[in-house]
Amino acid sequence: MNAPQTFGAMGEESGFLASMQKAMAPVLDFLFPPHCPACDAYVETRGAWCAACLANALRIRRLPLSGAHRKVIDEAWAFGVYQGALRSLLLPLKFKGRTDGLPALGTFLRAADEKLPRAAWMPGIAVPVPLFPKKEKTRGYNQTELIFRAWLEADGWTWRRALLRTRMTEPQYGLDAVGRAANVRDAFTVSDDEAREAIAGRPVLLLDDIFTTGSTLAECARVLKKAGAESVVEWVLASDRD
Ligand SMILES: [Zn+2]
Repeated sequence: MNAPQTFGAMGEESGFLASMQKAMAPVLDFLFPPHCPACDAYVETRGAWCAACLANALRIRRLPLSGAHRKVIDEAWAFGVYQGALRSLLLPLKFKGRTDGLPALGTFLRAADEKLPRAAWMPGIAVPVPLFPKKEKTRGYNQTELIFRAWLEADGWTWRRALLRTRMTEPQYGLDAVGRAANVRDAFTVSDDEAREAIAGRPVLLLDDIFTTGSTLAECARVLKKAGAESVVEWVLASDRD
């Protein structure tokens, strides 16, 4: 039985399945008690964290940008520390097609929400870093969209897939900073005229799950700025950078 792996998953569940899951929740909670994603301590509801682990993972900060990146990115912000709980929630989502960590990521975002300097950003256009279409088809989703979209839309942001990845790129994790920049150069384009119209002259919020060297985000920001975006602010769920 793999019920806990799908419980709470977002996506294309039918209404019937969703209501079945709701009805089954007490049974699942009994068979597989919800636990903190970081320390495994039992918690009251699925997706909850214990307060200490949540406080450890949450570290909202402005990320330093290299000179080249500063030319195209106005600000970059990370919400949490990558190593530890967030890594263990993100890896199965990215590489194993498992969405069961989403409720915990949702809890994390709601906690971040309270600490973000929200007044600095009026809700506008939110654009995810795209996956190569074939890769997204295989994975079944864009993880950045699953993480951020509902949370941002609830706050009045317009989610727009304004960028396309035009070629398959190597995984960034095996490359150094120079290799990473070369790997993603010219790998993105504005998806269509409608998207171009939507971003021209407007501030854009660019979203990704992880910030490592920022090469992918900088390349996306460069394309957005070239298409006329007034500014590009980046939010990522997690980073090891300070
Ligand atoms: Zn814990």
